[in-house]
Amino acid sequence: MTSRNQQLFEKSQQLIPGGVNSPVRAFRSVGGTPIFFKKGLGSRLWDADGKEYIDYINSWGPMILGHAHPEVVAAVQQAAANSLSFGAPTGLELEMAELINRLVPSMEQVRLVSSGTEATMSAIRVARGFTKRNKIIKFEGCYHGHADALLVKAGSGLLTFGEPSSAGVPAEVAAHTLTLDYNNTQMLKDTFASIGDEIACVILEPVVGNMNLIVPQQEFLQTLRALCTQHGTVLIFDEVMTGFRVALGGAQALYGITPDMTTLGKVIGGGLPVGAFGGRKEIMSVLAPLGPVYQAGTLSGNPVAVSAGLTTLKLVQAPGFYESLTAKTTQLVDGLKAAAQKAGVPFSAQSVGGMFGLYFSASTPTSYAEMMQADKSAFNTFFHSMLDSGIYLGPSAFEAGFVSAAHSNADIAQTVQAAEIAFATL
Ligand SMILES: *Cc1c(COP(=O)(O)O)cnc(C)c1O
Repeated sequence: MTSRNQQLFEKSQQLIPGGVNSPVRAFRSVGGTPIFFKKGLGSRLWDADGKEYIDYINSWGPMILGHAHPEVVAAVQQAAANSLSFGAPTGLELEMAELINRLVPSMEQVRLVSSGTEATMSAIRVARGFTKRNKIIKFEGCYHGHADALLVKAGSGLLTFGEPSSAGVPAEVAAHTLTLDYNNTQMLKDTFASIGDEIACVILEPVVGNMNLIVPQQEFLQTLRALCTQHGTVLIFDEVMTGFRVALGGAQALYGITPDMTTLGKVIGGGLPVGAFGGRKEIMSVLAPLGPVYQAGTLSGNPVAVSAGLTTLKLVQAPGFYESLTAKTTQLVDGLKAAAQKAGVPFSAQSVGGMFGLYFSASTPTSYAEMMQADKSAFNTFFHSMLDSGIYLGPSAFEAGFVSAAHSNADIAQTVQAAEIAFATL
């Protein structure tokens, strides 16, 4: 008998390209049938067939309080009863701007949007408008949403501008984007030495969570900050994933580096569509209606979405919230490493705050090139064994994982037990 999941997937593929509304959901990397969910509560999920899972995706980060947190649900219900949208300002948006500015002080001014993609796309437009330069720098393996200028892979060799990494992106658009190696300080210096004064902005994930997890080297971040200042280049920290995830003040607080602009998403909406971009007042002043850079949104600052975000951000400020989240994530990672060692499987893992990386390689990767050497087929076998045991990990060897405040010690113990079984099959 085919499962409800399989039926849903088969029908979905007829009407929705690949059966999904975002590609990684299709399980193409690991194979098998994607899970269709119908309910979540705390750390747990239930699929269309009623099978229960412990969730380590957490909607790719936003569900930092776990699913269906009663205070968030109540805030959403209350906001919805007062109308779903006005397309006009509300006091909630001001409250959100004040909160963001207090928690992430480098964001002197902020504008709300509805996704991380919109936030990064708009931040780059602002940086270009402010500097009156076209060229931008990104790093290989960092993801900044699906705007044209950011879907670019490295050109071959230093100073070769990129080619599109997606069909449908004109080469002319990609030609302004230079892609460098993450954590490669020398490459950064060489690039700035030759074309520093032509670079509008550098955008990066200050902890990378989109090629599995890569931790930044302090020297790399410091050099980047110094070079941007020296050349009048806008430094953009894309904290869509790391914001309110690795620490209350984001990666910029954790590493003590102040960017010129920051983009937020994911946790800031608590599971509803909210993004934000902001930074120095002088830079943000180029935005319409004050300045010549256009940006807008019918549902920007939507009251229901902002209510979910505000309540989430209120709750993560509880004393000890990040200490506890970090300790729990460390406990998970340590348990998995011990289980792999017992089974003799080459494996490493690490975490920053409430996000973690699992690597089927003997050492911890520090770059895209090293990450690509991890054993993908070992991951896929591990993934399916964990899924059978009711542990829901990201369906790709190149995704980071997420722990929520709702995960209990018992959840972690159950996960490590499942991992012992999974490692034994390798
Ligand atoms: C998820 C993500 C984005 C894109 O956000 P969406 O809300 O999916 O558009 C951008 N940057 C980073 C670092 C992300 O993790």
